[in-house]
Amino acid sequence: MLLILATAASCRGTATPHSADATADAHPATLKVHVVCHSHDDAGWLKTVDQYYYGANNSIQVAGVQYTLDTVVQALTANPARKFVYGEMGFFMRWWAQQDEDTRALVTQLVEDGQLEFVNGGYVQHDEATAHYVAMVDQTTLGHTFLRKTFGAVPRIGWQIDPFGHSATQAGLLSAYAGFDALFFGRADYQDMAHRKNVSALEMVWQGSSSLADASIFTGNFISGNYGPPEGFAFEWADPPIMDDPRLDEFNVHERVDAFVEQCQRMAASTRGPDIMLTIGSDFQFANAHLQYKNLDKLIRAVNSDGRVNAFYSTPEAYVRAKHAYKESWPLKQDDFFPYADFPHAFWTGYFTSRPASKGFIRSATSFLQAARQLEAFMGLPGKEAGPTTEALEEAVSLLQHHDAITGTEKQHVACDYHRRLHRGLKYAQAVVTSALEALIRGQDRPGRDTGGVAPDSITLDSSTGSDAYVAASQRVLQEQPNPIDAPITLEICDWLNITACNTTVHLSSAGKGFMVAAYNPLGWSREVPLRAPVSSSTACAWAVTGPENEAVTAQLLPASPSTHDLQQLLAGVNATCPTTFGDAEVAFVARLPPLGYSTFFVQPASGACAGRGSIQSNAQDASLQTDVDNAVDKEQYVSLDNGFARLEFDTHTGLLHSLTVQDTKVQMSMHLAWYNSSDGLETQENRGQASGAYIFRPNGLYNVSSEGSGEGWWGTLLRRLGIGSNQGDPIVQLDIVRGDVVLEARQMFANWATLVTRLYKGQSQVEMEWTVGPIPFADGLGKEVVVVYTSDVDSKDEFWTDANGREMIKRTRDYRPSWELNVTEPVAGNYYPVTAAMYVQDAGKQLTVLTDRSQGGASLQSGQMEVMLHRRTLADDARGVGEPLNETACGCLACDCPGLVARGRHWLVLAPREEAAKPRRTLQQELNDPPLLAFSAIPREVGSSNADGGRIGLRRTFSISEGHILHSNVHLLTLKDTGSSYLVRLAHLYQEGEDSILSRPTTENLNAVLQLLHYQEVREMSLTGNQLHADMQRDRLRFDASNDLTTSWLHDASVSHASNGEGGDSGRSGSGRGIARQAVGRPQQRQLLLDDSAELARLRAGAQIIDCHGGCAVDELLVTLKPMEVRTFELVYRPN
Ligand SMILES: [Zn+2]
Repeated sequence: MLLILATAASCRGTATPHSADATADAHPATLKVHVVCHSHDDAGWLKTVDQYYYGANNSIQVAGVQYTLDTVVQALTANPARKFVYGEMGFFMRWWAQQDEDTRALVTQLVEDGQLEFVNGGYVQHDEATAHYVAMVDQTTLGHTFLRKTFGAVPRIGWQIDPFGHSATQAGLLSAYAGFDALFFGRADYQDMAHRKNVSALEMVWQGSSSLADASIFTGNFISGNYGPPEGFAFEWADPPIMDDPRLDEFNVHERVDAFVEQCQRMAASTRGPDIMLTIGSDFQFANAHLQYKNLDKLIRAVNSDGRVNAFYSTPEAYVRAKHAYKESWPLKQDDFFPYADFPHAFWTGYFTSRPASKGFIRSATSFLQAARQLEAFMGLPGKEAGPTTEALEEAVSLLQHHDAITGTEKQHVACDYHRRLHRGLKYAQAVVTSALEALIRGQDRPGRDTGGVAPDSITLDSSTGSDAYVAASQRVLQEQPNPIDAPITLEICDWLNITACNTTVHLSSAGKGFMVAAYNPLGWSREVPLRAPVSSSTACAWAVTGPENEAVTAQLLPASPSTHDLQQLLAGVNATCPTTFGDAEVAFVARLPPLGYSTFFVQPASGACAGRGSIQSNAQDASLQTDVDNAVDKEQYVSLDNGFARLEFDTHTGLLHSLTVQDTKVQMSMHLAWYNSSDGLETQENRGQASGAYIFRPNGLYNVSSEGSGEGWWGTLLRRLGIGSNQGDPIVQLDIVRGDVVLEARQMFANWATLVTRLYKGQSQVEMEWTVGPIPFADGLGKEVVVVYTSDVDSKDEFWTDANGREMIKRTRDYRPSWELNVTEPVAGNYYPVTAAMYVQDAGKQLTVLTDRSQGGASLQSGQMEVMLHRRTLADDARGVGEPLNETACGCLACDCPGLVARGRHWLVLAPREEAAKPRRTLQQELNDPPLLAFSAIPREVGSSNADGGRIGLRRTFSISEGHILHSNVHLLTLKDTGSSYLVRLAHLYQEGEDSILSRPTTENLNAVLQLLHYQEVREMSLTGNQLHADMQRDRLRFDASNDLTTSWLHDASVSHASNGEGGDSGRSGSGRGIARQAVGRPQQRQLLLDDSAELARLRAGAQIIDCHGGCAVDELLVTLKPMEVRTFELVYRPN
């Protein structure tokens, strides 16, 4: 996303010869200008990804990626000096699939010759604030796998030029562990950049991880704060061409050379050493590559003839090698680059929350993908065309990590396109899951591996064709398979469980029949997890649940909440594709699940009194509309919920939370819903014109959601601190309490469009808070950004912690940045940080954490307080290009007659003594992120018979892929994926250094014990994305020295001669003494993978460097040691059956 650059031109009419070679390094002592040609191709933003690919819908934006790739290939072929870098594999893979063999051969040659270089190489250029690290790794792996298989190419440069801020996880895990030598980006905070320009620190060594000492990366922040060409040199955007024939009018070479040299020198003044990199290209540029290169050829010739600087076509790889050759120490950067502001009142912290339902959908689909892949790997990939796979979901999840997708900064029609793709992918993955579970429950053995399976040597295009045939074929196959129990099991996965809707369970319960729940746990630990199944309460008011060992499981029937009913009605009214089988109640029970496995539960109507239903109390004046309501709530000042682990106290007068106690730790705390008025940009203040919108959060006042007030309280205190006026006073809300044997619920209604339900489940220490917000009213003409505000007596002062992409926790200090003196211009928006998964405050004694089920923005604006933004509806555009207000509706249309979108999600609150807080926080964060997969069916008929035990013969009611082997609680099986020839396996250490006295230690797992049921014959440790051997990556990756001193003395005189090799040489790597051959000067050899090289494999086997074997890798013992925060990636090569 880039705004159009202004250009200027003037005339000067003298002649110059143009004989210099375009790439000759004629002046080795001068400034070396690496001209890097690129095109930044958003995988959807103003247009859908396919519209961008084809160049359709050009009335919105003239952009067609296919033309870029077509014409770049022609232009590169025409002149071997020219180079081009490309990053977005989602587009390249589309294009590649459409090319004939001749073009493919041509492109392969361009890659081998170093003319076409891949940077980043992910399927998309992912966002770094709102993407979860699992999805970042997946989407990068998808692109890297294509490049490895297609060209043997291994990207060496991170190219995150457009994302709106940059995460510590990107620096460590996604760069250093992916084998990158360097990382480049455009956007960073304007104050940070000004400071860095002053001290020549736009290039640095970034150590994003406090735990992974080896995960630092050379990082460059483009001087423009963007990634476009130097001003005046956007040839494709109508800047003047190089008019170089003195016989013609308007000769402009001298003037253009002066302008170019001046910009190069300005850049050189802010970076270190004689090499600078100029990016030429921008959003969807080089669609007319001939125009670009023809002018660049002339410009480079003229510049080199002039002699003040030496310009040449280059690539980021060559530029980084030149920098590496300096053998200098670079400024050290720790922490991260959030939040990002481009102007004093323009903090890009709104997109942390924008489109919350979309963010929730993406997160749950990402988790579903991981779990579905486990079952797919275990059951074996189907033969070609034989069944559904997880491929379509992998592509959709990858696509939606794009920095205008998961961010919610795309146009509405593009959002709809994204969600359609995600839904489609999910349907296929659901079919994988249900067919696997059906087979396993029926007692089928794991099928033999079909070696003719779907080997992804050519990755399909986003599943737009052929997939329906997959589903039909799969259903046919299932029907034809022998069924050992002679009882069909047809599992349904219900997409709408969060609004108490499910065809199978509601239909069956309506008919007075029971149903089966199969729950698959993707975690490597066994766990106890609360489940809720929608039912109709019309036929029974008591339900019995039977577990896999035929044991009775405590169950509770509880009525759907009023807000759920409202949501059901709203959705039924606006969208024909919504389910009509809404339940009016749920059966809740706590399920015990094995690691990497499932258990089945039979839920059946029970005879007898309606004892299990629980009771409801309310503080409402008129509670007559609800059954079983007991107005006793308002007889006492406080009403409590207590499950033996945690105790919640609510104030019956205000309806608000009063305190939370977990075992011996207690906090006084409250939670409220409030809203910021979105600035419409029309205030008579400084920076008039900056509205709150899809990207930017610019509040203009804070208001209670509840219209009633009760005097001064925390609310007034906060408002005074923030210096903003509003309806002061603590709110009063309606409070209903639901009690039962499984779950205790406090239902708070702040307004008819904003509710919280707080839950304590039997045997669980976390507090679940389900928020429902919407339709956000806007008849008053005010945009609203709704937050939940947690206040507590935790003495956290001005410190709080937020996670980086679900990985490391990063300390934040209010009104402060670690690496520059912050001028506070936006006291609220400027203190917002991305909360991808977790946020906490702590004092000497305790830690209070909020875990989120999706990415949201969060801040701590006073001691003990945390606020998380839940939903946003703005009525103005924030002028960053999307050109639409963020005004989502339930119909997926903009400016239409449809209610605003309702979003519903969950927080888990975790309270623990500070020293012991990491374990519950980390464990619960993983459990919230990876809920069990639930599938429902009728109870197989034998089981329902009176023949007590005989009826269950043949049913496999519980099963574990790891045969019950449990991973250590600080280790997560991040990936288990069948690639068609091997299993891709990742293990992640879940703790960072110093977080827990025991669990932050290195841990050793026996991989063979976990995956003993899979068949493999060889294990190789790989880079994070699986595109190279780990040993090769370790050997080849460039390391840069770092100094803590931002002002390390450097001479900025471009004539200082460092050992730079300019274009093409190989001093970078040979300088390290590793002697990597980079012959053919001027043509950096494309790195070839050695995976299929038998000598390399022999070396690996002999060297046994792959795994920590502790004295030799016995077949049955494959020990993997993980350091804190480490992720290790392995390829387990199939063993033929
Ligand atoms: Zn972009």
